[in-house]
Amino acid sequence: EVILEVRELTARVEDTPILKGLNLTIRAGEIHAIMGPNGSGKSTFSKILAGHPDYTVTGGEVLYKGKNLLDLPPEERAREGVFLAFQYPLEIPGVSNLDFLRVAYNAKRKHQGLEELDAFDFDDLVRQKIELVKLDEGFLSRGVNEGFSGGEKKRNEILQMALLEPTLAILDETDSGLDIDALRIVANGINQLTRPDNCILLITHYQRLLDYIVPDYVHVMEGGRIILTGSKELALELEARGYDWVREEEGA
Ligand code: ADP
Ligand code: MG
Ligand code: MG
Repeated sequence: EVILEVRELTARVEDTPILKGLNLTIRAGEIHAIMGPNGSGKSTFSKILAGHPDYTVTGGEVLYKGKNLLDLPPEERAREGVFLAFQYPLEIPGVSNLDFLRVAYNAKRKHQGLEELDAFDFDDLVRQKIELVKLDEGFLSRGVNEGFSGGEKKRNEILQMALLEPTLAILDETDSGLDIDALRIVANGINQLTRPDNCILLITHYQRLLDYIVPDYVHVMEGGRIILTGSKELALELEARGYDWVREEEGA
């Protein structure tokens, strides 16, 4: 079952074309990694999937569960199960992490036609999920990401993901700035959240995250397109040889 189908997607920021004919198909149960040099358009692609207003799609299409994703407002995409963990997670001082998580969680329940969880039941659920990411319960009463270290923010993202159970999770450089212990915890959290009916798109600069999360496919992005797709071994080859050879061989 295809979850995400991207065909010849082109997009610009202001007057600058960034995506130049991107094709990608992700099926249920799959983990895809997108690698590629700085500025190749990886973050642009993830933000377009989430519905970020700075980017204008100029051509192509994006189907999510068979529907035109680009027609849906960002909140609707989130409620439909698209989750984007931002490269630089937002801080929301004054809103407790627990309240933030409960509001997001209940919005999704409501969308699914389920009753909202009351504060007590939600509290039980979140305390169970927080063990997955090994965050101290004290993080729940603090402002959203307020004063969290880089690693704590990433773990908090995985906690959000564990609660929201997205169908398509997009993780943009979730590994950046993590020490090796935090990397393992985050990777382990992600691995435990993979199911046969969801899929994960990992965007990463480095191969090391892929030591812990084994992708079904590795794609190389360059100049706003995917120029090469391979198996997990491709990530090792990129780590050893860089990107220049891909550009040359693929004529990008
Ligand atoms: P990557 O994540 O692969 O490093 P990005 O998608 O962040 O690449 O950026 C791709 C290109 O688009 C870069 O040249 C970047 O400067 C440009 N770009 C991205 N977002 C903006 C923006 N909001 N305004 C202007 N240029 C942007
Ligand atoms: Mg799989
Ligand atoms: Mg980026």
